[in-house]
Amino acid sequence: MIRSIRVRVTLLFMLALLLALSVFTIGIWARRRETVDYRELQRYVQSQAELAIRIIMQAETRGPVTVVRDSLGGEGLTSELASAMEVIPDYLLVIDSTGRSLYVSEKARALPDSDRTVLFSRALDIEAEATRATLLTLGTDKIFLSARDETDSTTSIARIVAGSSARATEATWHATMDDLQRSLLILLPIAALIGGVAAYVIGGVAVRPITMIITELEAITDGRSLHRRLGGADAQGDELARLTNTLNAMIGRLENSFGGLRRFTADASHELKTPLTVLRASIERAMMARRGSNEQMEHLEAALNEVTRMADLVNSLLSLARADEGRFDLVRDVVLLDSMLRDIAETTAILGEPNGIEVRVSECEALTVEGDAPRLRQLLLNLVENAIKYTTVGGTVELSLAADNGAAVLTVKDTGMGIAAADLPFIFERFWRADRARSRASGRGGTGLGLAISQYIAQAHGGTLTAQSRLGRGSTFMLTLPGAVCRELTRSETSPPRVA
Ligand code: ADP
Repeated sequence: MIRSIRVRVTLLFMLALLLALSVFTIGIWARRRETVDYRELQRYVQSQAELAIRIIMQAETRGPVTVVRDSLGGEGLTSELASAMEVIPDYLLVIDSTGRSLYVSEKARALPDSDRTVLFSRALDIEAEATRATLLTLGTDKIFLSARDETDSTTSIARIVAGSSARATEATWHATMDDLQRSLLILLPIAALIGGVAAYVIGGVAVRPITMIITELEAITDGRSLHRRLGGADAQGDELARLTNTLNAMIGRLENSFGGLRRFTADASHELKTPLTVLRASIERAMMARRGSNEQMEHLEAALNEVTRMADLVNSLLSLARADEGRFDLVRDVVLLDSMLRDIAETTAILGEPNGIEVRVSECEALTVEGDAPRLRQLLLNLVENAIKYTTVGGTVELSLAADNGAAVLTVKDTGMGIAAADLPFIFERFWRADRARSRASGRGGTGLGLAISQYIAQAHGGTLTAQSRLGRGSTFMLTLPGAVCRELTRSETSPPRVA
């Protein structure tokens, strides 16, 4: 298996070139070989007839050109002229005005009687001074004939017909064509080789940018160089530029995921490190304290708190890991949102009491949605707990539920410390806390995972979770869930809502 595209393309191109050239040359050669070019032969035959005329005309100037040969008064050329005529090879007939032959060349005489008769009658027939010689087939032989009439002669010579066999011309033609075939057979592979070299060079030029991309990619994909990008992206908008742009976008996404993963691992270990240190210290102190003493109990209680906190953190991490894997399975059922909201208001009211924070439900339409009740409850609890956590003494947390364009809109509004505009885009990120040190030191003890999980829950329901806030003025978190349905209130529910 050939591994280089360049070599593969070159070999394929050479093969294609060889095939195309072979078909082309064999086609042309086969056609040319069969159509013999007789033009040269025709000209030759015509010139032979001309030569014979000139020889006769010269002889005429010296005296009579014919003599009586037999008792019947049959004439023939003088022996001197006849021998002069022998310089003309092949066929030559000198005919008188009555159509009798005055001279027949040796080759014509050597013909079988029947062929000679055909030749003679044809010699009388053909047009004189014709622009092309006439073809006569005698058996397997082809003879070209050319006639000249002797019009102003004082002698009895009336017509001269010269002829020549095409056999030699055909043999030469076929030999030439066979020569051509041999040359072509040698030239074909040379042409294919030249084509191959050209294809290899062109292939190299075409493949070079890809090789460069591969080299650059190899340097980038070691995980530490993901900040680098492939060069040459802003070349012409060809396929390579598109490939480079696509790869750059992919590296960008990889860089984000790697960065996220790195931050997540660092944050998670950091979050686990602190409770573990506290846990260790508490256990050590508990071991040092007198068995069963109050002091030992206090240390064990502190240890238990940290264990609970760590368990919460691990649970949250597990939920996020499942969400990342796409295994955030929801058990869908009809959820009575209004009852859930009231229930949460009641439950969380106790949390606000120590700081005099009031939790109240301002508006509550009787709405239901299809969803996972425990998850939605977890989401709302997180929002309300946050609102209480980040609201100063004497503040209020206001919950509301209303329908809007077929969606249920739940809001949790507080009069707390608010979030700075610069921080707002990050609050849904994992482990993000406005002020880590303060939030831990102040006993608020958040992990920074609550809102990330809440947003996953909202999105898994096809909804959204957004926040609006002003520093020092309080925050409003708004959860929108699609597919809200109004429900009939039961008799027990028609009494005014209880306020926490
Ligand atoms: P945490 O466990 O720290 O509360 P969250 O993901 O629930 O984690 O919240 C992330 C951060 O967003 C919090 O640390 C806090 O800084 C900020 N935040 C959340 N809710 C509020 C709120 N109602 N008022 C002010 N800040 C808030």
